Amino acid sequence: MSTLMPFRTIEPSFFSGLLDDPVLLLNVRPTGRGILIDCGQVNHLAKRVMKSVDALFVTHAHMDHFMGIDSVIRHNHVSPRTLELFGPPGIADKMSAKFSGYDWNLTEQYWCSFRVHEVHRDTTATFLFPGPEGFPRRFVGEFPRRDKIIYRNDYLHVEADLCDHKIPVLVFKITERPSFLVDEDRIETAGLVRGPWLRQLKKRFCQGNPPAEPLKVLRLRNGKVEEEMVQDVETLYESIRKKRTPASIGYVSDIGFTEENLEKVVSLFQGVGLFVCECSFLTGDRDKARVSSHLCASDVNFLVDRLRPAFFLPMHLSKSYIHNCERIYDELVIPHGVTLLKLPKYLTPRPLLTHEAGRLGGCRPSRG
Ligand SMILES: [Zn+2]
Repeated sequence: MSTLMPFRTIEPSFFSGLLDDPVLLLNVRPTGRGILIDCGQVNHLAKRVMKSVDALFVTHAHMDHFMGIDSVIRHNHVSPRTLELFGPPGIADKMSAKFSGYDWNLTEQYWCSFRVHEVHRDTTATFLFPGPEGFPRRFVGEFPRRDKIIYRNDYLHVEADLCDHKIPVLVFKITERPSFLVDEDRIETAGLVRGPWLRQLKKRFCQGNPPAEPLKVLRLRNGKVEEEMVQDVETLYESIRKKRTPASIGYVSDIGFTEENLEKVVSLFQGVGLFVCECSFLTGDRDKARVSSHLCASDVNFLVDRLRPAFFLPMHLSKSYIHNCERIYDELVIPHGVTLLKLPKYLTPRPLLTHEAGRLGGCRPSRG
């Protein structure tokens, strides 16, 4: 998927077939580390991949989106680090139940911990499950949400909104951090003159938040180039940066086709580069979609038409279409300028039947 994508540092990989439980991995190329969106069928992800995950984003705790958490814990618990997990209200109870389902009498000081963030409408409630102590639940605090951003690292940020699926469900937007780009015209309009200060500005930009120390720039005054100290370096960059929409990914699974949900999705995902969206039912089964609070093909067509992403990946088709799943592609209307990405029915080989397993010994019991 990544070769076509408009991303600079993020490499998205969808680890599920059309009918598999969804898992989206976003690898950050410069660091080799990544984030995981939804946690469905994950047992085919290599341990190395699981260990490269810094943060997990779970839309909701229906089994097909959350059952992979056991594998995530299994592959990470003997590592000295802290994994961040973001989910809807109630996710800390679910994690608590997961951990208390096992015996942890052999823990070591170097085991990992999970920091679990429940994303509510106005606040985020954070809990820590420290591995060295056998993963008890510790309340860390409840923090106000100032905007939709719930997670940020040097290369991307993640925004979330709460939608309705008969239970609260999160939708996620992942945006790549824009690269350092300046606009020649804007530099000239600001009366600035190119010089070594631009290199310093770039260095500060790449180091994350620029420190509060002033920057010496060159400015044209009465036909003469003069040095000038600028105190607010962030505003300086804002005034000369090249305006470009950063690449982003929208992830929606599962939501009902309600007015409130649509409003939230359309406003959050306007202009996304890649739109990953559940398409659980064919249009003829709209009633089933309404009853289970999922989207059907015509609902998805509506969203894709409104959002016009560069790439669109329909996923999470109901397993009831196992014999005619290609029909979903006949029902999807792809607007001009949108590239449809198709998934195979399944991504992994099917599990073994009894006669395909290694038989233990012969059929007859041995005589002693
Ligand atoms: Zn669900």
